[in-house]
Amino acid sequence: MGCVTGKNPLGLMVLVSSLLLSGLSLASELPSAEAIRSALKQAHERYQGLDDGANADYIPALAKVDSDIFGIVLVTVDGKVYSVGDVKSEVSIQSISKVFTMALVTEEKGVDALPKNVGVDATGQVFNSIHAIEQHKGHEMNPLVNAGAITTTSMVEGKGYNDIWNRILRYYSDFAGRELTVLEDIYHSEAETNQRNQAIAHLMYAYGHIEGDPLQATDIYTRQCSVGVNARDLGIMASTLANAGVNPVTGKALVDPENMPEILAVMATAGLYDDAGKWLYRTGLPAKSGVGGGIVAVSPGKFGIAAISPPLDEVGNSVRAQKAIADISAALGGNPYQVMPYKK
Ligand code: GLU
Repeated sequence: MGCVTGKNPLGLMVLVSSLLLSGLSLASELPSAEAIRSALKQAHERYQGLDDGANADYIPALAKVDSDIFGIVLVTVDGKVYSVGDVKSEVSIQSISKVFTMALVTEEKGVDALPKNVGVDATGQVFNSIHAIEQHKGHEMNPLVNAGAITTTSMVEGKGYNDIWNRILRYYSDFAGRELTVLEDIYHSEAETNQRNQAIAHLMYAYGHIEGDPLQATDIYTRQCSVGVNARDLGIMASTLANAGVNPVTGKALVDPENMPEILAVMATAGLYDDAGKWLYRTGLPAKSGVGGGIVAVSPGKFGIAAISPPLDEVGNSVRAQKAIADISAALGGNPYQVMPYKK
C-alpha cells in the first residue's frame, strides 16, 4: 500500500477503504483532552452547590457518610485519566459491584449461564422485590437486582467462603488497578440489618437457583457491596468495560471482548433502578448506580466515566452523579446511539 501519512490524503483514503472492505472498523475518535477537562470542570462547578436528595439510611452506616463528597473521573480507552473534585474519599461500591460479579460469572461459566439461572430482563419492580421472585419462581430477572445478584454471587467458583471471596476481591481490584479493601463499618452495619436479603436468598434457594448455603451467598454479597472505592477507582473500572474488558491503565485483560456486549446490555436495561429507561433515553449509556452514591457509565470504545456523591433521589440514584455524567457525556459525544447518516 506504500507509506500512509497525514500528508498523503490519497494514501489515507486507500487505508480507510481497505479497512472498511476488510470488515474492520477504525478505532472511534476520542474527545480531545481540552474538551474533556472543560466538560468535567463545568459539570463539577454546575452541580457542586446542588443539595437535593439524601444519603441512603436503610443501611445505618450509609447515613453517616459525608454528603459533600463529590468527585468525577473520566478515563479514555487509551488509558488517560481525567478528574475533578474529590477523587480520594472512599464510599462503599454497593450495587455497582453486581456488574463485576456478573462479569466474573460470565467469564467462568459463559454467556448462557446467567440468562438460564437468573434471567436478563428488567423486572419492572424495585431492586429488592420479593414479588418479582414469586412472579416467575426466580426466573425472568437479572444479575443487577438483589435476588439475581445474590444468586450470581452464589455461582462464583471456589472451594468455600474464603476462596470465593478472595476471587471476587481480586477481580474487582484488577478492574480498579489497585488492591481494594472492605469498609468494615459498612459491612457490619449491613450484615446486622440485611434480613430482607437473607429472605430473598432463601427464596432463590427454595426455587432451585442457589445451590449451597443461601446465607453464605448473602454474606459474601454483603461483603462485595461493602468494598471501598473512590471516584478514580470507579472511573478506571468503567473504562475497562468501555475498552472491551481490558483495563486501559494496567493493560490487564479481565473480560473476553466477546462477552462485553451482553454485560453492557444488562447495564443498559437495568442499571439505574426504576429509572433505567429514563437514563437510557437521555444518555444512551450502559451504567450502574449504587446506594453508596456512585455511578459508573460506559461509552463503548471511547471512555468510562464515574462520579460519586452520596445524596440519592427517591429512586436511589445519586442526584449530582446522574446530572454530571449526563452533561459530560453529551458534551463529548458519548451516546453510542448518536450517529450521522452514512454519506454515499
Ligand atoms: N447492599 C445493598 C443492598 O443489598 C445494595 C443496594 C444498592 O446499591 O442498590 O441493599
